Amino acid sequence: MKKIKSFAFVPSLNTLALQRIEQLLEYAKKIALSQPEYCKKYVKLAKKIAMRHKIPWGCKRKQLFCKNCNLAYTKKTLRLSFEKNFAKFLCLSCNSVYRIHLSKLLDKYKKLAKKQVL
Ligand SMILES: [Zn+2]
Repeated sequence: MKKIKSFAFVPSLNTLALQRIEQLLEYAKKIALSQPEYCKKYVKLAKKIAMRHKIPWGCKRKQLFCKNCNLAYTKKTLRLSFEKNFAKFLCLSCNSVYRIHLSKLLDKYKKLAKKQVL
């Protein structure tokens, strides 16, 4: 007997995964300063769920969390610097650098960019 694969659950599973990822990331942001170890744990879990369900991580999420150590960027853990058309995110806990074009920056960082570049 051949098993019949059902693809009916695929879209609903993806939406469930997205919801779970967003919940985890929101919680990670909240506890970033008070409990950094748990913050790292939650971001790592969210990344794993995204990989399993093939959900792209995207440049918006990359600007909120460190790529290397999974810590959320806050005033104490992030140094932002601007070159010609690029922004440089330096993580102060692991010294990793993430570079991104100014057109893709989130709105909360764009205000800082206008002050420093002009
Ligand atoms: Zn880091």
